[in-house]
Amino acid sequence: MSRLTLALPSKGRLREPSWSLLEASGVDPQEPGERVLQSHCRNADIDLLFVRADDVPEYVQDGVVDCGITGLDLIEERDCDVEVLLYLGYGACSLQLAVPREDPTRTLADLVGRRIATSHPRIVTRELAARGVAAEVVKVGGSVEISPRLGLADAIVDLVSTGSTLRTNGLRALDTIFESQAVLVGRSGVEAGAISDARDRLRTVLSSVINARANRYLLFNVDKVNLEGVVALLPTRGSPTIMDLATSGVVAVHALVPAADIWTLLPALESRGASSILTLPVERMVP
Ligand code: AMP
Repeated sequence: MSRLTLALPSKGRLREPSWSLLEASGVDPQEPGERVLQSHCRNADIDLLFVRADDVPEYVQDGVVDCGITGLDLIEERDCDVEVLLYLGYGACSLQLAVPREDPTRTLADLVGRRIATSHPRIVTRELAARGVAAEVVKVGGSVEISPRLGLADAIVDLVSTGSTLRTNGLRALDTIFESQAVLVGRSGVEAGAISDARDRLRTVLSSVINARANRYLLFNVDKVNLEGVVALLPTRGSPTIMDLATSGVVAVHALVPAADIWTLLPALESRGASSILTLPVERMVP
């Protein structure tokens, strides 16, 4: 069986969540030694290469590695020919158009003839063309948010997750230019065979963890007379499991529910007669 090579971010924001996803998947990735860029997984035929998230698109495109984890914004910005195999659900951020707080600009269209600083010039140029706005794009390497204060530009487009950096720098977000998150990418045009099979296996295992993280296993008891009312509240896609208890007239209900709904669901279930309510994390989930 041939080995799969996977590039992982060696530092920065995507490093820790990428590593923990791989750990949760059970492939048992081995920590690289200090200054070592390569490692392997104990439970799977996967070799790991630790590189900057910035470099992953080229490494995958050029076949240095079979697949890699990086930000979708970096794939688009580098214009690399790679295939997105899986959206990983972390590293979520967006490229936001922002102007100084006191600037009266309301929309992107108001920036005709003005300068926009960004470290994502390709994505911004493409978006300006798509919206028919003739503005000048100024490429900056880092600290994009101070460009207006330095007189380099009238507006910026920068990666934002919470918006606090924008606020700290006296900027106001106007519009979303691009939505990003971490992705698993592979080389385009890989033919059916050992490598594409190994990629499919990795995608299935990682997606089982991602699906599981987004859900909780919910259990509770309810009197049969209240069953219809509580089941109607469940935001489950499939059918819940309903089991008779030793106490007659009472049933146990088990269901898989989105983690994001738990907050509102539990009080609602309780008020309709559910008791002994438990939620459990789900380790793996293959739909
Ligand atoms: P790094 O520069 O190595 O920390 O990685 C930057 C990548 O992390 C970006 O290309 C995005 O895909 C992702 N990211 C997630 N949230 C943010 C954020 N608030 N600012 C910058 N990058 C972010």
